[in-house]
Amino acid sequence: MYRGRFAPTPSGRLHIGNLYAALMAWLHARSAGGAFALRMEDIDKPRCKSDYAELVLKDLRWFGLDWDEGPDVGGPYVPYTQSERTERYEAALDALLADGRLYPCFCSRAELFSVASAPHGLSSEGPAYGGVCRSLTPEQRTRKAETKTPSLRFAVPPDAPVAFEDGVYGRIEFPPGAGGDFVVRRADGIIGYQLAVVVDDAAMNVTHALRGADLLDSTPRQLWLYEALGLTPPTFAHVPLLCDERGERLSKRQKSLAAAALREAGVPAETLVGLVAWSAGLVDRPEPIRPAELVAGFDLDKLPRDPIRFPLDALRNYGV
Ligand code: GLU
Repeated sequence: MYRGRFAPTPSGRLHIGNLYAALMAWLHARSAGGAFALRMEDIDKPRCKSDYAELVLKDLRWFGLDWDEGPDVGGPYVPYTQSERTERYEAALDALLADGRLYPCFCSRAELFSVASAPHGLSSEGPAYGGVCRSLTPEQRTRKAETKTPSLRFAVPPDAPVAFEDGVYGRIEFPPGAGGDFVVRRADGIIGYQLAVVVDDAAMNVTHALRGADLLDSTPRQLWLYEALGLTPPTFAHVPLLCDERGERLSKRQKSLAAAALREAGVPAETLVGLVAWSAGLVDRPEPIRPAELVAGFDLDKLPRDPIRFPLDALRNYGV
């Protein structure tokens, strides 16, 4: 049985790119006759706000999406809000620690960023971690722990090449150890995204994780965690990102493209759905349409592999 999900981070207002990713995940699940869950990824508590989480629900409903399980409707895998699932992540950390898969890292931010010649880490992160703290002796760890609370890093298996079959991009291959050892619990106690998402997708029996291509390079890390925790990964599909007419990625910083701002500007949800569906190649004309009307003809193969150019011009009439 297909189980899909949308997992937004309520650290700001949803923008058009989030709506598009949600629509794709929803269409993929619905066209397979599957269940669809909404999970609020507020694990980074200081960055997230409950007002934003409330707004996520409103924005998605306005856009024409629904979910079978989620923070506001419950379901078999409650709670659906990450900040309420901490003990599950701690249990996974304990298991990884017991297996010797993690080590404490005492490096400061400044030290991490001074490694100018390090290979690249994730596109979102800068240089890969060089591994200094991996080889500390137990005595060195004890001494350092007297003055600094460490973060916990996952020791990436040295020659674990990662290849996986992506639902949109086909076979994706990363070099061995791509991205370097990564943080699974920050020094301030906050659980890392990679660990939380793996624990949750597995616990919630998600069979298909469909999300934006900005998370493509997180997938090897998640696959290593699945392997280390003895869990079965879902099938992954990453959808190309939405860009403006010049090919620049649409971002959260463009405040006028927040879902709530578009709604307030008077853009009808069906108009927006139609533009998104048309720019993604799902329909022939940019005409108003509801998500439910797109289910029957939906096919992931119709999506382009290149970034999708969204016609911002079409929103000019609304003063956007
Ligand atoms: N919470 C993540 C984000 O908003 C998405 C997680 C996922 O889909 O794996 O970027």
